[in-house]
Amino acid sequence: GDLLDIDFLREMSEKDNKIKSLVDMGFPEDEANMAITRCGVDAALTVLADSVYASQAAGDCHYGNLSDYELGGRKRARLMEGSKKKRKRYGGAAQGNRRPLDGSHEEPMPLPNPMVGFNLPNDRLRSVTRRLPQQAIGPPFFYYENVALAPKGVWATISRFLYDIEPEFVDSKHLCAAARKRGYIHNLPIENRFPLLPLPPKTIFEAFPHYKKWWPSWDPRRQLNCLQTSMSSAKLTERIQCALASSGNPPPKSVQKYVMDECRKWNLVWVGKNKVAHLEPDEVEYLLGFPRDHTRGVGKTERFKSLGNSFQVDTVAYHLSVLKDMYPNGVNVLSLFTGIGGGEVALHRLGIHMRTVVSVEIGEVNRRILRGWWDQTQTGTLIEIADVKSLTDDRIATFVRRFGGFDLVIGGSPCNNLAGSNRHHRDGLEGEQSALFYHYFRIVDAVKSAMGRM
Ligand code: SAH
Repeated sequence: GDLLDIDFLREMSEKDNKIKSLVDMGFPEDEANMAITRCGVDAALTVLADSVYASQAAGDCHYGNLSDYELGGRKRARLMEGSKKKRKRYGGAAQGNRRPLDGSHEEPMPLPNPMVGFNLPNDRLRSVTRRLPQQAIGPPFFYYENVALAPKGVWATISRFLYDIEPEFVDSKHLCAAARKRGYIHNLPIENRFPLLPLPPKTIFEAFPHYKKWWPSWDPRRQLNCLQTSMSSAKLTERIQCALASSGNPPPKSVQKYVMDECRKWNLVWVGKNKVAHLEPDEVEYLLGFPRDHTRGVGKTERFKSLGNSFQVDTVAYHLSVLKDMYPNGVNVLSLFTGIGGGEVALHRLGIHMRTVVSVEIGEVNRRILRGWWDQTQTGTLIEIADVKSLTDDRIATFVRRFGGFDLVIGGSPCNNLAGSNRHHRDGLEGEQSALFYHYFRIVDAVKSAMGRM
């Protein structure tokens, strides 16, 4: 009776929420609706997004107004200026690959399944080789990251600006105990990579054995979903506890479904009888490959936010490991959108000495976290800059002369949590977002030219 009504209402609002989330991610509403019909209202947002991509790739839909889902007009115009400049510089070859940026010819970039990138540690079978486009070959090496599930056309655009390099899409669940679907565009070699040791735990129980005690048999999760920038409310865990306390053991399917949905959405773990809780910041640090207490000393909300936006260290270190033999005397790094220093921690854990890091990060709290870690672990020089906008081409040229060039330009521009379940921004990749990617491209290009003049 009651439970069914609640179920029905919950399902209706769940459907509305999911459609809204998908529209926020840039998908047309009718396609979002169709995906929910195909996969069911309880399918995870990532599954629904994959389904929309799949049907787009299969040519099921056509787009009358694609440009609405593309970069905003003004920002697009600015990006196009850059593209024209690039076309001149690289001539015919690059131009051949660049379709107009008005969006009308944009094809969605299909996401690989499984999302394992070019190769995984100890997976010789699937391993691929690649030839970089001529204009992509360094110096400097560069490494760019963003969320895999971006609105359509975004990765194609990013790739076009970053010298037509094909993105490497990796879900970190193949390397650690939590999912994290990210795309990486880089000009690093992909042969002879090696993983950080010790290998991180790959399941929830390996990471946190004590949660076994209260884990119900009807919770099939063995890995966590993407670690988010915010945590669940105490109200929610209380509601779950009430729902479970007032039903039998095992609870009816409808209650199980409700609880599992929330557990998946918020990465809740079992800490007592009928009792779930969100992960603690030090657990998130551990899952992401940071040293314990890396973000300690700032508010819990800030810690979740910074950790939720950060690199998964083992994943990034696997890609960067090829630098180790190349630079026995250490590297000069230009670190853009440094956050809490996922790239720096990866290099450190690989045993690659950082002679100099020029770090650009606008968040004061993040800068404090990085500075604390740096002073404690490093002997090289850390130079801090707040805003990518203030890193002009002239300043870049000065740094390049002073340090003899940068060996690595690394960074992921803010993702505004596009695929997240906890925040929704209708503007998606428009506005600030695309402008910040533009700075990444501009800065890499400026380092490239300055180093070309050395
Ligand atoms: N890869 C990082 C996190 C990247 S998240 C890590 O491992 O932690 C993107 C970061 O860009 C955020 O920390 C945000 O504060 C920063 N940011 C946003 N706008 C910026 C700007 N204009 N200049 C420099 N950094 C900026």
